[in-house]
Amino acid sequence: MPELPDVEGFRRYFARYAEGRLIRGVRARDAALVRNTNGPGLGRALAGRRFEKPSRRGKWLIAPAEGPTVLIHFGMTGLLHWTAAAGEPHPYDRIVFELDGGELRYRDMRKFGGVWLARSGVPLEDVTGPLGPDAMTVDREQLGELLSRRRGGIKAALMDQRLIAGIGNLLSDEVLWRARIHPSRRANGLSRRLLDSLSRELHYVIATSNRWARIPAEPGWLTGVRDKRGARCPRCGARLRRSTVAGRTACWCPRDQRKPA
Ligand SMILES: [Zn+2]
Repeated sequence: MPELPDVEGFRRYFARYAEGRLIRGVRARDAALVRNTNGPGLGRALAGRRFEKPSRRGKWLIAPAEGPTVLIHFGMTGLLHWTAAAGEPHPYDRIVFELDGGELRYRDMRKFGGVWLARSGVPLEDVTGPLGPDAMTVDREQLGELLSRRRGGIKAALMDQRLIAGIGNLLSDEVLWRARIHPSRRANGLSRRLLDSLSRELHYVIATSNRWARIPAEPGWLTGVRDKRGARCPRCGARLRRSTVAGRTACWCPRDQRKPA
């Protein structure tokens, strides 16, 4: 499921292939994935304009086009695919941007993501809903301030896009495991030492993952083992635990991440 580092990879991909190109039209092969207008409406708004430099906020890719802005959320299985040849699209290519010199295709097997349009002058949050600051930009002081307002569990707080944008299930588990914080600990009850550690690990995990355009499933990473049967902690060898937190399956080490009584 795409989180901040994956979308950061899509942003770079978009910049590499689509930035600066003239938009000739849009083919909505699955009209339901054009979320807040329809295929022809999206095409009319964009045709004849050029894509400008894309940005990202949380899990949203933001692609301005000389007035209107295209917003893409990748849901669970979304991705971008560029092709210079106009061949037959992939069965899961839902929306095709016909550009000068090729096509940028939004591909999504499970169809939880999609494409939104913000017309000129419309605030982007009208489309995305309220979003907290991007996780990449949140420093130690701001992190402490944001979490101090939350009485619920730390993992749920980290995954709440309105509080901090960009963190999902895998990223929150990886960061909490590195910082040795139990996922159900109270968000506003962390010591200064744990907050320091959380902030440090958050930035380490994001910076490293951004280079891979995903959370790397490398040796020494929780993400590398978490889905294996009988998975053990890469640090201490304890059998990893799982439970449902905020509707997602949290994975943690019962030895390193103890919940205070
Ligand atoms: Zn452990």
